[in-house]
Amino acid sequence: MSEPTGIGILALQGGVVEHRQHLAALGVAAREVRTVESLAGLRGLILPGGESTCLGRLLKLTGLGPAIVRAFREDGLVVWGTCAGAILLADEVVGESPHLSLMPIAVARNAFGSQLDSFRTTAAVPAVAAAPIPLVFIRAPQIRRADPPARILLEIGGYIAAAETDQALATVFHPELSDDLSFHRHFLRKCGHRETLGPDRSRPFLAVG
Ligand code: GLN
Repeated sequence: MSEPTGIGILALQGGVVEHRQHLAALGVAAREVRTVESLAGLRGLILPGGESTCLGRLLKLTGLGPAIVRAFREDGLVVWGTCAGAILLADEVVGESPHLSLMPIAVARNAFGSQLDSFRTTAAVPAVAAAPIPLVFIRAPQIRRADPPARILLEIGGYIAAAETDQALATVFHPELSDDLSFHRHFLRKCGHRETLGPDRSRPFLAVG
């Protein structure tokens, strides 16, 4: 059997459409995942921003939580959590029980306080893009610890904003809410897609390879 190549977006709650549009801009038609059955044949799954307590409950109710953990451990599913999604991936959520525990990171929810609740900034993330990229934070968590084999991709102001393992990526900000496609491209590469040029050679897209 050939390797699964599909990319899914968990579509129980939160920011699904923007992720779908970013993937489409890179030539990938993503599947919305609401049931255990729709995980079949996926190589990668995005867990979007939203509200982690609500998402955690829905993961339990639908049975998708244990199914995602199984696909991660047994089938090599690659996962990317943005904001609330990153909280779902952490093996420690400060003051609360963890959800999926797929990454050796600790996160603190709503860690910026009301003044800085939501903000934009720009930062260089050399492992992901050659030039600095825009970052959008919305009631974001902070990653407070990333243990090996997790690698820190971005650290700003004393906390970790992005980290990854070979099979998982966590960003506390929302790459789907800026025009920049770098993180989506990075995730697709982790899922085994390789970049080529589109037919008119003006627009890069990602092919399975
Ligand atoms: N504050 C939310 C939580 O703790 C996350 C916010 C977001 O995903 N934009 O779940």
